[in-house]
Amino acid sequence: MTCPYLEYRSEADGETFDVARAYCAADETFVEPMRADVCNDRYDLRHADDCEIYRRHEGL
Ligand code: SF4
Repeated sequence: MTCPYLEYRSEADGETFDVARAYCAADETFVEPMRADVCNDRYDLRHADDCEIYRRHEGL
């Protein structure tokens, strides 16, 4: 399952990109490439367990 806060945007906060990038609606920032695996629950990562931003927003 993908994190419900994950979006894809090509523009935010005055930054514009030709191709949409992963954007965290909870943190209101573009997602660092290293974190994208957590957002997408790839490998053994789980956003509900491994992302402090998600956990903070969910009150976990
Ligand atoms: S950074 Fe965390 S809260 Fe934001 S989209 Fe990724 S997993 Fe979700």
